[in-house]
Amino acid sequence: MDLFEKRVALRWRRTKIVATLGPASSDPKMITNLLRGGVDVVRLNMSHGTHEAHREVYGRVRAAAKKLGRHIAIFADLCGPKIRCGKFPEGPLTLVPGEEVVIDPRVDKGGPGLIASQYRAIARDVQPGHRILLDDGNLELKALAVEGERVRCKVIYGGLLKDHKGINLPDSKVSASSLPPKDVADARFAIGLGVDYLALSFVRTAKDVAGLRRLIARTGAATPIIAKIETPEAMQNIEAIVEASDAIMVARGDLGIEMPAEQVPLIQRELINLARRRNRAVIVATQMLESMIDHSRPTRAEVGDVANAALTSADAVMLSAETASGKYPLRAVEIMDKVLREVEGYQWKQGGFLAVDAAAHAEMSQRDGVANAAATLAHDLKLQGIIIPTMSGTTARVISSNRPTAPLVAVSTDEAVCRRLGLNWGIVPMTATDSEYGDWERLCRRIARSCELTRTGHSVLLVAGFSDDAAQNSPMLRILRV
Ligand code: PGA
Ligand code: MN
Repeated sequence: MDLFEKRVALRWRRTKIVATLGPASSDPKMITNLLRGGVDVVRLNMSHGTHEAHREVYGRVRAAAKKLGRHIAIFADLCGPKIRCGKFPEGPLTLVPGEEVVIDPRVDKGGPGLIASQYRAIARDVQPGHRILLDDGNLELKALAVEGERVRCKVIYGGLLKDHKGINLPDSKVSASSLPPKDVADARFAIGLGVDYLALSFVRTAKDVAGLRRLIARTGAATPIIAKIETPEAMQNIEAIVEASDAIMVARGDLGIEMPAEQVPLIQRELINLARRRNRAVIVATQMLESMIDHSRPTRAEVGDVANAALTSADAVMLSAETASGKYPLRAVEIMDKVLREVEGYQWKQGGFLAVDAAAHAEMSQRDGVANAAATLAHDLKLQGIIIPTMSGTTARVISSNRPTAPLVAVSTDEAVCRRLGLNWGIVPMTATDSEYGDWERLCRRIARSCELTRTGHSVLLVAGFSDDAAQNSPMLRILRV
């Protein structure tokens, strides 16, 4: 194998990189460096930071993207019904295995034997025998008895519990509203800023997604929704949730607490395949380069994790604390970029990326059939690229879901559409003026020239005309000499 002598450097990386911004990555210079380093999508995490701080970072990302001439998507990640414990004014609480401790939602300060929680209904949702996990599952309690609004527990795995750590209830049906008041305020704020997507945490059913959709509609916006898959309940309703959302996130942090961790790798694979079959983008998130929060090099296992996400054809991979609060935000992005390019170069040389499993389509829709044909044509005729004029982005998303070998350039007159397509596998978004958009063939020739897809004697494929409304579908394929 001449893998190491002749590296195939694909000009455009196909797997997109999402970076969470935070204290380690909020200054304008660092933001510019991160975008240069390969970030395609920025995440603003509403669990931390004030609206004012988010507004400032949002403006800086838009300014940096403009300066670099890039279409960068920004999404706001809403906290969802995340349950947290209160403060410990006397310092962290030491939980000793075998001892008893009480969770009380009526107080906001904890102390010896007492954990405060802002979640009022905890005693209604938890039953004796249920597990209560604290601090990302590092500490574990078992509910012994429900006493009024309080829950008496036994410590199973102990340790130090600090202020405001998360509480997960994997055995309980959590009745908390899917859009707590803070999320409603954060969503309105983020829509006002003009974010390209809203991510919804702890989605349990398609109704949760519909609820956010209604809120967005009431503001007059049409912001697309990323459903974060991180609970067993979501897995039970997964088909309907994917259908109701515009994209999904495999939120492995909470998913790996709420579900047996050994199931997460296969769930990840299934979710990638499911999202692709429905033409939805899918982000693989959390702990991808976790050790780089403190170290300048990732572990070999982390490199393997990023490589696996690319090999199994995720649309995007995400950095969380690595870029938000770690010591090496830029290096984390650069390393992610290198790993993805190495994998993709290998796949490209081997003949292409992971095709959709046609057998998995019970009944192939017209547009999926045409997308399949486009990918095959581009591959067999060695076309230089697939150029996709797209008003809403739908045609581009459908073509991207097929993971064709040829580079994908999506052209829209709408900058917001271009930014959103920053999340989708392989898509290079470009803008066109209204008058250019009137003549697709000329437009494609112009794009082919500006993207250097014009080796003499070669052609590009023009694809257009897909719609989410089956009755409006009028797909067309044209091979253009450039
Ligand atoms: P979070 O979501 O970082 O907002 O918790 C991602 C995850 O749980 O993996
Ligand atoms: Mn989470």
